[in-house]
Amino acid sequence: QSGLIEKYRFENFVVGKANELVYKVCLQVGQYPGVSYNPLFIYGSVGLGKTHLLHAIGNKAMEYGYRALYSPVSDFSEEMIAYLKKGQIDTFRNKYSNVDVLLLDDVQFLSGKERTQIELFKIFEAMYTRDKQIVLVSDRHPKDLKDISDRLISRFESGLVIEIGLDDETKLSIIKQKMILYGMPLDQKLINYVFENTGYNVREIEGAIKTLKVVGMKNTSKEKNTKDIKFVVEFTARHFKLKPEDLKRESKERRIINARQIAMYLCKVVLNASYVEISRYFGKKDHTSAIYAVKKVEEKIKEDRKFKYMLTFLEKQLKKELL
Ligand code: ADP
Ligand code: MG
Repeated sequence: QSGLIEKYRFENFVVGKANELVYKVCLQVGQYPGVSYNPLFIYGSVGLGKTHLLHAIGNKAMEYGYRALYSPVSDFSEEMIAYLKKGQIDTFRNKYSNVDVLLLDDVQFLSGKERTQIELFKIFEAMYTRDKQIVLVSDRHPKDLKDISDRLISRFESGLVIEIGLDDETKLSIIKQKMILYGMPLDQKLINYVFENTGYNVREIEGAIKTLKVVGMKNTSKEKNTKDIKFVVEFTARHFKLKPEDLKRESKERRIINARQIAMYLCKVVLNASYVEISRYFGKKDHTSAIYAVKKVEEKIKEDRKFKYMLTFLEKQLKKELL
């Protein structure tokens, strides 16, 4: 009946610079509702943990023996209309004002809903005069809310208005926490991948990790590697005044074999591509062809100083172009 989701707790909320203050305030409100910050208004963009914290407050308050009620504003509004139609609007008012902690999510959706605003204002007044806690969450600051009555906005602003954010350090901690949660190894490569392929949005981060768990790193990075391998082949061909296709076709020509082996070697040392990937790109079924090529080039580097200089130059040049 409380509408609370139990898994959203303070204990599994990762805290960092950008959300530390709001976390502390919420914890305080959960333990001592109606005392210090009333109403509490939290705002910030999507996926930053606003809903999570709202439930955490409710769960904490329940733990401390208070009655809490969570509701997204869209549900609140629909329910109000239903009660209104049944001619039982008093029941609705009582339901919402007779709790110790009222948690309203996504209040930006009050926009344009006049009757809902009127009812909320009444509930607000009834609760506030009895020191009952009200917590509101929105995607924007009260001042930026549209089509909401001035008296309601001024109530929203009358307590503490606080923003929630996310910074790189916290994002990194969240990625690690979620990877552990999903039973994945804390591989630096995986962590970096998730970090670089997500924005400041924890929902997006969770999505990326889930995908990674199902699809695996190999597939996720395949496209990138294939693109880079293609680049290395074109680069090598250009250096030896050949066409990229030349390097991929069967040939007994010395300079073509030589260039292909060097291209494979560069894919290995510069891209750290797997032997399977490299061989496949060159149309070889057997991955040992790439192993063989890399070994050949390594041998030649040891024996031939001029060859070694050339390869050092190629490696440097390639890295520059890959940036
Ligand atoms: P919002 O309401 O701000 O759009 P949510 O609270 O729905 O965001 O958060 C999206 C998801 O990210 C949820 O699964 C939530 O548990 C998780 N999440 C957000 N912030 C954190 C955090 N700091 N630590 C752990 N999980 C988080
Ligand atoms: Mg939310």
